[in-house]
Amino acid sequence: MINHSIHQITVTTPYAVGDVHMYVYKGESVSLIDAGVNTDEAWDQFVKGLKEINLQPSDIEQIILTHHHPDHIGLTGRFEHEPIVYGHRLVEPWLNQSDRFFEGYRDFFNDLYEKWDVPQRFRNIEKTIAVTKKFSSKSKLHHYLSEGDIIEGIPGMRVIETPGHAQSHLSFWDETNRQMIVGDVLLKHISSNPLLEPPENKGDARPKPLLEYRKSLAKLLEYDVEQFLPGHGNPFRGHKELIERRLERQAKRAENVLVYLKEKGPLTPYEICTWLFARQYESQFGLTMSETIGQLDYLESIGAVNNVESNGVSYYAPTMTHQK
Ligand SMILES: [Zn+2]
Repeated sequence: MINHSIHQITVTTPYAVGDVHMYVYKGESVSLIDAGVNTDEAWDQFVKGLKEINLQPSDIEQIILTHHHPDHIGLTGRFEHEPIVYGHRLVEPWLNQSDRFFEGYRDFFNDLYEKWDVPQRFRNIEKTIAVTKKFSSKSKLHHYLSEGDIIEGIPGMRVIETPGHAQSHLSFWDETNRQMIVGDVLLKHISSNPLLEPPENKGDARPKPLLEYRKSLAKLLEYDVEQFLPGHGNPFRGHKELIERRLERQAKRAENVLVYLKEKGPLTPYEICTWLFARQYESQFGLTMSETIGQLDYLESIGAVNNVESNGVSYYAPTMTHQK
């Protein structure tokens, strides 16, 4: 029998999602799973939370990251003693923060937005990068994790690859206690956003985050989980109903998009976005655009729409009806 305990420490974030959780695994070694956001406030809250379980930052031997988003990797670089950092290999560029990486990121979105005929005022990738860097952390990834790995120092915790919300997303399954640390893959109170990212290698086809996300949810159905420990919101159980609900809602949204496309004919992803998220797209452009392209990828995957290019612009049209 392995003796260990998992403690949740919650810190505030400057993001709309609100608070984020970090988990301290006390066992054979002291590990931190996820590292909050890089603000002084979050660091202070973290140190205070550690104190309550009789620990201090220098006790953290290793940090294990669920995914690369700033509110999960933020404090990684704040430790003076440099704990060993584990995560998916795709977390690495976000920790290294090389100019070259961000140039590639910028090029990818500029090309895409050009193809989707996105007005200039929404092409604020520079700002997205600046905010991401500000709340992230510059540090090193020492070990890559992938499907099935057992992490040293936390025996019994197995790595499950769960891409979609982020390409780098991993979940951690503790079979002994039937607990799963699930990052942002499945949250009880809000649905997760599958976010568009550049492909790992420049020039490759872009990832299709919603399709990956659906697969990750289906994968979670295979596990008999007693308790999910998420990145945001309360721990929960009953994931089967929750996943069914999420998938149903997504399919319904896609259905609405298809009906609209049948009515309006070929449209660019941008045009669909302004209709689908009429109230949110101006303030949350990247997010709503990711969500829109997700629905289009899904409709394309079930053979309901085609992607056609005309004069360098990408349009989506239904396959079932004749175009006027
Ligand atoms: Zn996230």
